[in-house]
Amino acid sequence: MGHGLPLTWTELKKEFDAYAGSAAIEEALLHFYEALFQIWYSNRDRVEIAFIFKPEQIRDSLREGRFLLSGQKPPFDAAFYREILAEVVAAAVEHFPETAALQEALHLEELQGDRPLLMAMEITSLNEVQLAHFFSSQQWFAEAGVEPAQAAFLLAAALKPFYISLAAAIAAQTDFSFWREGCCPVCGRMPSMALLRAEDGARILECGQCHAQWQFGRLECPFCRNRDFQQLRHFSIDEFPGRRVQVCECCKGYLKTVLGKEMGRRVTLELDNIFTVELDLVARREGYQPGGDLVLPR
Ligand SMILES: [Zn+2]
Ligand SMILES: [Zn+2]
Repeated sequence: MGHGLPLTWTELKKEFDAYAGSAAIEEALLHFYEALFQIWYSNRDRVEIAFIFKPEQIRDSLREGRFLLSGQKPPFDAAFYREILAEVVAAAVEHFPETAALQEALHLEELQGDRPLLMAMEITSLNEVQLAHFFSSQQWFAEAGVEPAQAAFLLAAALKPFYISLAAAIAAQTDFSFWREGCCPVCGRMPSMALLRAEDGARILECGQCHAQWQFGRLECPFCRNRDFQQLRHFSIDEFPGRRVQVCECCKGYLKTVLGKEMGRRVTLELDNIFTVELDLVARREGYQPGGDLVLPR
């Protein structure tokens, strides 16, 4: 527990290749993901996190149910962010030439200085509906011929090395055992994946943004905190043994879950997330949504 990505690119690459050999995933997409991971790994060591939390601050905040970044802007470097964004966009254009408009757009005034970083931090906190609203309010995106969903994905992807380094630094100091909430203890996002740990069956949740991992009860929905077992169920499909999709009838959220015991090996949840995208399609078709897209009462 603590952090969900392996420490080195070599470790991740080995696992990536094992997935890639057996997955029915489009070639271009596969290479793009590989390039993306490479960018994350080559930059995560360069990200200097001006350390903003003392150990007792971490403990108190987690105990009180406040995620660590709540109410504060993470100290990320805008110029460095733009550099990573350029790398991410270049990788996208290499594998998907139709995204070239975004590369052009990097020269626009709207994407100079600290604006891309601020925009990225804003959009990563929005759900699908809010995101659509945001892009329709930024007319210049459409004028530049940039596809909003693509732009949102790439802007968020370029933020990852920052969040990953931050969460890994914090996870080195705590195992988040004081944390009882359904959202991420570091950045506050809803979990994107879960694992039932092989050794003891404990449910581990993982944040899709910073990849912090924390333990959470098995009989509770992390999104709406519903504990009525009749409203919680799961399904699986034959193509993906060792996985199930947990769904909640209360909030209509779903969470892909890896069954550690059945998989019989160490699983990097972010990789499994990418290579089981069919499960997302089934869940959405059945009327469920990932946690980040739910509109939940506060
Ligand atoms: Zn997080
Ligand atoms: Zn729920």
